[in-house]
Amino acid sequence: MIIADYHTHSVFSKDARNTLEENILIAIQKGLKEIAVTEHSYTNLNGIKKGQFVEIKNEVERLRKQYPSINILFGMEANLLNEDGDIDLSKDEQEQLDIVVLGYHKTCTSWKNFLRHLKMSWNSKKQIQRNTDAYIKAMKKNKVDILAHLGYVGKVDVLKLAEAALKNNVLVEFNRKQNWFTPYEVKKMVEMGVKFVANSDAHSAEDIGENYKGVNFMLKYNIPESQMMNWNKLIELNKK
Ligand SMILES: [Zn+2]
Ligand SMILES: [Zn+2]
Repeated sequence: MIIADYHTHSVFSKDARNTLEENILIAIQKGLKEIAVTEHSYTNLNGIKKGQFVEIKNEVERLRKQYPSINILFGMEANLLNEDGDIDLSKDEQEQLDIVVLGYHKTCTSWKNFLRHLKMSWNSKKQIQRNTDAYIKAMKKNKVDILAHLGYVGKVDVLKLAEAALKNNVLVEFNRKQNWFTPYEVKKMVEMGVKFVANSDAHSAEDIGENYKGVNFMLKYNIPESQMMNWNKLIELNKK
């Protein structure tokens, strides 16, 4: 069973419903051993504001003391910013975080972001390669532990990216809400030995630890338990 959830949002993300404490309490109730707090980072329309980084860090520390029965990781859902593979967290912030989930989103905070988004949404072969290379650069340059909801915005060459993820010890997420992988891509990734994680991406406490789609993928594609990294075990985190 899924015993850890590495992608969750609380009210620090403007599109989420419950407080961090409410999320943690439900996670404990459901028997999770580990949970990552991964609010939307700065350049997401629903992202945190400067100053809230420290606020969340302090709240995580308080909750750790109060609820020692669960590991609480201080994380962030960072946004891929450009084709150079930059993300919206400073090196100093990355060092303070236990875990970084990397995503790409429609919601943008500036015209510059909007134009980039428009470009990344083109489905030409060239643009798909550019998007893929952007993710690969991001994994090399930054602390990245998980690639969230690939294909949600900006198509990528899934197999090329998965190979790079494997090399960089980065996990590929099965999202609770939707996955854009083709059956062929999943089968190939399984053969390649890609490491997966089934996260909730919960925006309300009731969804914490839930991911029946990820579990269905495991059954449907015969994904070995050893490749589902939050199945009866906890993930290893990257240092950078
Ligand atoms: Zn996301
Ligand atoms: Zn998310």
